Amino acid sequence: MSRFQVRKVAVLGAGVMGAQIAAHLVNVKVPVVLFDLPAKEGPKNGIVTKAVEGLKKLKPAPLGVAENAALIQQANYEEHLELLKDCDLIIEAIAERMDWKLDLYTKIAPFVAPHAIVASNTSGLSITKLSEVLPESIKPRFCGIHFFNPPRYMYLVELINTPTTNPEVIDQLESFVTSAVGKGVVRANDTPNFVANRVGIAGMMATMIEAEKFGLSVDVVDDLTGKKLGRASSGTFRTADVVGLDTMAHVVKTMQDNLKDDPFYSTYATPKVLAGLIEKGALGQKAGAGFYKKVGKDIQRLDFATGEYVAGGGKAEEIVARMLKKPAADRIKLLRESSNPQAQFLWSILRDSFQYVAVHLDTVADTAREIDFAMRWGFGSQQGPFELWQAAGWKQVAEWVKADIDAGKTLSSAPLPAWVFEGPVADNGGVHSKDGSWSAAEGKFKPRAKLPVYERQAFPEALVGEGAVEPLKAGTEEFKNEEVRVWSLDGEVLIASINAKLHLISPTVTEGLLKAVEIAEAKYKGLVIWSPDDVFSAGANLEALMPVFMTKGAKGIAPEEKKLQDMMLRVRYASVPVIAAMRGLALGGGCELAVHCARRVAHMESYVGLVEVGVGLIPGGGGLTYIARRAAEMASAGNANADIFAFLKDGFTNAAMAKVATSALEAQKLGYLLDSDIIVPNKDELLYVATAQAKAMADSGYRAPLKAKFPVAGRSGIATVKAQLANMRDGGFISAHDFHLASLIADVVCGGEVEAGSLVTEEYLMSLERKHFCSLLEHPKTQERIMGMLQTGKPVRN
Ligand code: NAD
Repeated sequence: MSRFQVRKVAVLGAGVMGAQIAAHLVNVKVPVVLFDLPAKEGPKNGIVTKAVEGLKKLKPAPLGVAENAALIQQANYEEHLELLKDCDLIIEAIAERMDWKLDLYTKIAPFVAPHAIVASNTSGLSITKLSEVLPESIKPRFCGIHFFNPPRYMYLVELINTPTTNPEVIDQLESFVTSAVGKGVVRANDTPNFVANRVGIAGMMATMIEAEKFGLSVDVVDDLTGKKLGRASSGTFRTADVVGLDTMAHVVKTMQDNLKDDPFYSTYATPKVLAGLIEKGALGQKAGAGFYKKVGKDIQRLDFATGEYVAGGGKAEEIVARMLKKPAADRIKLLRESSNPQAQFLWSILRDSFQYVAVHLDTVADTAREIDFAMRWGFGSQQGPFELWQAAGWKQVAEWVKADIDAGKTLSSAPLPAWVFEGPVADNGGVHSKDGSWSAAEGKFKPRAKLPVYERQAFPEALVGEGAVEPLKAGTEEFKNEEVRVWSLDGEVLIASINAKLHLISPTVTEGLLKAVEIAEAKYKGLVIWSPDDVFSAGANLEALMPVFMTKGAKGIAPEEKKLQDMMLRVRYASVPVIAAMRGLALGGGCELAVHCARRVAHMESYVGLVEVGVGLIPGGGGLTYIARRAAEMASAGNANADIFAFLKDGFTNAAMAKVATSALEAQKLGYLLDSDIIVPNKDELLYVATAQAKAMADSGYRAPLKAKFPVAGRSGIATVKAQLANMRDGGFISAHDFHLASLIADVVCGGEVEAGSLVTEEYLMSLERKHFCSLLEHPKTQERIMGMLQTGKPVRN
């Protein structure tokens, strides 16, 4: 296959989706030009300019760094169509109208480069019909590319081909979307609403019908169908409010218009309550009211009977919540057999979903794998419907569903297909097997796509029944304690995986990491600190130090803290490169560990910062020492006589204000990642890239940095900071304890009461960290913050 290079992408349509897709392309460093209609008044790019400005304020943030909005090139169809000629991929995301989309395709066709891929982000229009107006030469390069809102955060992208799409083109696009854009691709058939919205919205409609049948209110339904059921925390009605009831109605209308022969057709009728809300303009979150309404601080719920908003907060009954904690087989049995209406409701919606996916599998997707991943990645479910069914016991559940269909209890009388009861699926005990996932259309298990891009994922998300090896049981194990596993996948690079809760760094973790460095130095090219879940480390484990504190007081903590600091230095000066493979939280001690590694390979969604002041402490695992050292390095790189203090200010402020970067890009701006560090768009490629880095660094003759003394800002730096802090305290912007904490941070990063320019060692600065850290442990205000955090999980302001 020839290498498909995407040097530039055009996004057509700067609406909700187009603007955010453009933003995400900037996040992953893909040059992008964003088009919209020419504005009728003012500058012709007016519509796009407004959309780009809007990106900076939107929540959750579509951009990793808000200023990067400036990197989106702005264009309109009147003046700039020529720009399309330089684009390798054109994504159309204009309003959902077939006639408007067709007009636009006709207009752009002469400007499309001969190799460029053209793809529509439509949520429900037929891709094949859209392709029909295109010139023959473009048809093989046209397909659907369905992002989910918000595109930066939703992992799913559906790709849809037409009968004329060249298979090689869609493979190229899949590789690009997976690796460069960082998404999980599901191939969907060109059927109404494709896979995720078809199954997901049909499920929401069924849930609404069953809720009415069992007389449950919206808040109770959401509590039952949210996290407790292993689905998105917003449950059903709140999800509808967030999506927008008009948008949801639009998707539903596509089903009403195009699925007249569907045995579930009657369930696609717009529920009266939904129609009523839309008529009133209560379109959900964006309108301030929908199934819920925010009144002051309270969230009220719609009462179906009266149409009024009443006090919300209804929850699942305790007995039902307990059933939901059981393993799949027990859970489903208990729900089905219980006479509790909430349990009966849950059994009903699960049964409806099993029936729905089994009946539709042969038309909407190639295999059951696409349906399960679409529901995980597009609707936030922990498990897709087929997986859950399989985990609960395929044959038994199938019998139960059949019994309900036969008894007329289901929303549709459509029987389960024969393959459910006999043949390979029944023999295998479900649709996912070691040989692949069931294709109802082809009557066989089909393996996953073998595109080279997937070789970059050593541990792709696995489905129940596939028999995939769990990462923490894979490879060759070199060492293991209760909180760290040290192992290798390839015999060349060692991996240390922290598996403690939130990967908090306790003495046990420290021990494991030290052991890992020792083994790596003896036998491997490098060490990667990586774990399969979505947190790097949320910090040092304060609770683990409690017993020492109780018996020996703060004095007893100093030696423990020194062990942590020594581990950081061991990592930094290891004779093999140590790579931090970061994803999710890297806070406090987690951030300190990362900055002491030879390189950081970070997933785009990494949240990094020194947050210790939140619990009344200062970073004490080398974080402040790092800030001082970096300032000295930057000063000397810029100019031999540069003022260190100028380079220190930002680092100091970040620690004193506990700033947390909300993306890897922002972490780079804050200085916790360096320009030489690598940002990885796809979470499942993190281990691959980190391992490749370790090998490349080793093969390039890696040597640890030489231990050197470096200059600090000294007492004049401390005085300058303190003067500013005093103003803030006296102006009432910070508390007296904040002032105290910030002063101690200033003391460490400036190197204490020494002359400006004095040369210090890391060990010396770390001893200052220890001195202040331990003094704080005895401070009543700090103790109040720590207790508050341990008890409520929220920072105490004092
Ligand atoms: P939107 O209404 O926010 O934006 C549509 C854009 O199209 C506007 O900027 C508008 O100026 C432009 N436009 C309108 N008429 C046009 C015309 N005749 N020619 C050219 N441009 C025109 O819409 P959106 O929500 O961003 O949806 C865009 C596409 O993405 C639709 O196909 C929609 O189905 C799909 N989609 C939407 C979502 C979602 O949650 N909103 C999710 C996935 C896919």
